[in-house]
This record gives sequence, C-alpha cells and structure tokens, in this order.
Amino acid sequence: MAIADNLALVKSRITAACETAGRQIDNIRLLPMSKGHSSSDILAAHQAGLTRFGENRPQELAVKAAELAEVELDFAFAGHLQTNKAKIIAAFAAEFQALDSLRLAAELDKQCQRIGRELPVLVEVNTSNEPQKHGIAPADAIEFAHQLAVFDSLKVNGLMTMAVLSPDRAQVAACFDTLVETQRRLQDCAAPGSWEELSMGMSGDFELAIAKGATCIRIGTAIFGKRN
Ligand SMILES: *Cc1c(COP(=O)(O)O)cnc(C)c1O
Repeated sequence: MAIADNLALVKSRITAACETAGRQIDNIRLLPMSKGHSSSDILAAHQAGLTRFGENRPQELAVKAAELAEVELDFAFAGHLQTNKAKIIAAFAAEFQALDSLRLAAELDKQCQRIGRELPVLVEVNTSNEPQKHGIAPADAIEFAHQLAVFDSLKVNGLMTMAVLSPDRAQVAACFDTLVETQRRLQDCAAPGSWEELSMGMSGDFELAIAKGATCIRIGTAIFGKRN
C-alpha cells in the first residue's frame, strides 16, 4: 500500500484510540520512524503532510539530511548512540530521544555548545528490565535527572521507552505503566511543566500506549512498510 494510504490508516487508528481513551489528538505527536527506508519514501511521507522523521543510525541520518537538505523537514534521533557519534546528532538532529548515560550527555552538550545550539532530549528508560535493552533503570531516574542539570545545552523534556516485544498485552502495558510512574516521581521533585513528554508506543502497540498516556508515538512499519 502507498505511504499516504498507510498514514491515513494510522491517523484513523490514532483518532479511534484517542476517543476510546478520552484524550485530545493534539496532545499526541506522531513521529514516523523512517530508518531503513529511502529518502524518496521520506519525500512521499512529507508530501502526505509529515515534517519530522525518526532515524536510529548516525550515518544514515547524515546521508538523508544531506539528500533532503532543500526540503522543509527535520529529524529526530531515537536509538542507541555511541558517544563518539554525538557530533553527528548535534549537526543533524532536531531532537534526541535516547539519552541513557552521563558520558553521552556530556558529549552531546559539548558538541551543541560548540555550534551554539540547544538540543531537546528525552531520557530513555529501560522499563522491561531486559539486559539487551538500552536506557537507565527506573530506580536511577531521580539521580540521573539531577546530574543532567549542569548541561546547559540539553533541554530535557521527558522520557522515552521501548516496551518489551511480546504478544502479552499485560507485559507491554506494565512497561508503559513503569514509564508513567517514573515520570510521576520525577515531576514530584521538579518545576511544574517539567518531564511532560512520554515517548512510547510503536506500530504494534501504539493504541495501548495512547491509552496509557503517550505524548509521542514512534511508528515505522505501519507507515513505511517492512524495512529492508
Ligand atoms: C524502528 C523504531 C520504532 C518503530 O518501530 P515499528 O515497529 O516499525 O513501528 C520505534 N522506536 C524506535 C526507537 C525504533 O528504532
């Protein structure tokens, strides 16, 4: 199916999920994950109305940003990042959704300072407690948040998680609940309006994420089809 048709279907599912959950659609941001798809696919999605795209490999981001430099769109980076690639994110990403270490925060801050920009970031939380998953442990969130305060170029807006990949909805729901609970603990000791963003939910679980309070859903396959 064409990208525009996929997108229309995803949007109608988002609308339905919002109605079921009693939520406003304006409070949910759709981040199309274009990683693994071509710049021409991104162009098709842009023509269908999307303006920010998610990538998870620095080199791929840099190539696409160059190929699409003349188009009114930008990129979010949502994936594990090695510290030595921070410069690419500072140069080409409008936001970073996977902050998971102090070392990375320090390097991103340094690279952003160097070019005089601010970088909106989300802290990635490992809500499934799987060893192969990235993200800080929920129990470390408060201390990590305090340590981020020194990085003037990072604008910390909230949390991101990848739920467990499981057909068991209860297990997926538990991951989303953990992210919401982590947000509550952070908000309890922060200025009003802090930590508002919750990036959770992908093609297979975004309706559940909306029901649980997601403000950003990251959708790849349901918009672009299978990745190569
Ligand atoms: C690819 C990706 C997604 C979207 O996955 P789909 O199942 O294809 O919708 C979401 N978040 C991150 C971090 C990703 O890398």
